[in-house]
Amino acid sequence: MTMPLPDDHPLAPPPHEQSWVRVAQDLAAGFATKTDEYDRTAELPVENLRALHASGLDQATLPREFGGQSLSYRTVGAVLRVLSAADPSTACVWLMHIGAAEGLVQHSTPDVARYYADELIAGRRFANALSEPTGGNQFLTPQQVAEPVDGGYRLTGAKRFVSGCEIADHFLINALVDGEPTLFGLEPDHTVTFQPQDTLGLRATRSHLITLDHTVLRTDRRCPPAEHPKPNHIAGGLAYLSLGIADTALNTLIDYARTRTLPTTGNPLAAEQHLQFEVADAVLRLEAAALTAHHTAWLADQNSPQFLPSAVRAKPTANRAARDIAQLCLQVGGGSGFVSTSPIQRIFRDAQTGWLMAHSVEFCLNHIGTTTLLPPPPASSD
Ligand SMILES: Cc1cc2nc3c(=O)[nH]c(=O)nc-3n(C[C@H](O)[C@H](O)[C@H](O)COP(=O)(O)OP(=O)(O)OC[C@H]3O[C@@H](n4cnc5c(N)ncnc54)[C@H](O)[C@@H]3O)c2cc1C
Repeated sequence: MTMPLPDDHPLAPPPHEQSWVRVAQDLAAGFATKTDEYDRTAELPVENLRALHASGLDQATLPREFGGQSLSYRTVGAVLRVLSAADPSTACVWLMHIGAAEGLVQHSTPDVARYYADELIAGRRFANALSEPTGGNQFLTPQQVAEPVDGGYRLTGAKRFVSGCEIADHFLINALVDGEPTLFGLEPDHTVTFQPQDTLGLRATRSHLITLDHTVLRTDRRCPPAEHPKPNHIAGGLAYLSLGIADTALNTLIDYARTRTLPTTGNPLAAEQHLQFEVADAVLRLEAAALTAHHTAWLADQNSPQFLPSAVRAKPTANRAARDIAQLCLQVGGGSGFVSTSPIQRIFRDAQTGWLMAHSVEFCLNHIGTTTLLPPPPASSD
């Protein structure tokens, strides 16, 4: 088992917010009973998302001035880890939902920000339509151009892997406007259609391709730059999705290794020394990954300039831990884990997704390697 953070640890959720982690734990116990069914049917876990909203968690993530509790990044991270351990698809759609709403509230004029906050509080759904088919990792620098028309800009193109798109009332979307990456809020109309794409993991996110056919991005929903930019929950939260999957992979393999007796020795698999070494290694990796994520969340809570460099480290560290531990889980489960009725194969598939979600592990390694090895570029003379 990995060592939990003591409640009074500075990297743990602040004491006055710890009740939210308990709310998530209570809900997660129910979610876990349906995870494999949602995966099998690839249905959106709408019931879970409604329960999260009804608990008040969605609203609590909003800034205080918009009716929320400005929930800390440490708490949102801890909540995500609990949710992802129970049902990673629910956790992913929820993260995209609160992240898109947060982006629109932060990058809007006060009246429009109030509108989006009220929509979140009322239970409307939000999603991110940022990744383009030609290069998902460049999701902040879109290549698709929106042309000026009366009242806004017209966009024809596609976005892919839009988690929860079919139930979204609002999208955070981007396009090139006058050569500049520009964010908009979009309420989908008949020009926005969904093309199912069945993903290998996180099937219940229904992360489909959406096509935009002469879709008007309204001028009054164009997002001006934020006056006081803060980290988005998605940038720090993706690591926690992987940590939750890693937790479940580790717990599942421990349960199996304790109960599976080897006919040759009469001892449980857990008594095999080679497995004890591998599990110890998994525990070390998971604890290190969790500490990096907690540190990153703490930096986000300070609005520190070190947040982004830290997030670029936390995400691949957690993605690797999840993928490696899920691989070990499959190895320990043997043939029993390799059949479609076993949760192990689902955990294995879900563990692959964090790796490729932007920014992918390769993207992060490229960034860390370049900045570590190469001298910084000369300062601009402007
Ligand atoms: C389950 C799931 C849910 C998602 N949900 C959403 C969502 O709600 N909204 C949304 O907008 N997007 C979403 N995404 C998209 C996601 O965030 C990524 O944008 C997408 O998975 C990456 O797409 P790509 O592989 O086409 O990217 P590409 O950028 O084309 O990457 C292809 C390959 O090139 C490598 N690569 C790319 N850039 C670099 C670099 N600079 N250095 C080194 N290697 C590089 C990558 O590692 C990868 O191996 C989701 C994805 C998944 C899997």
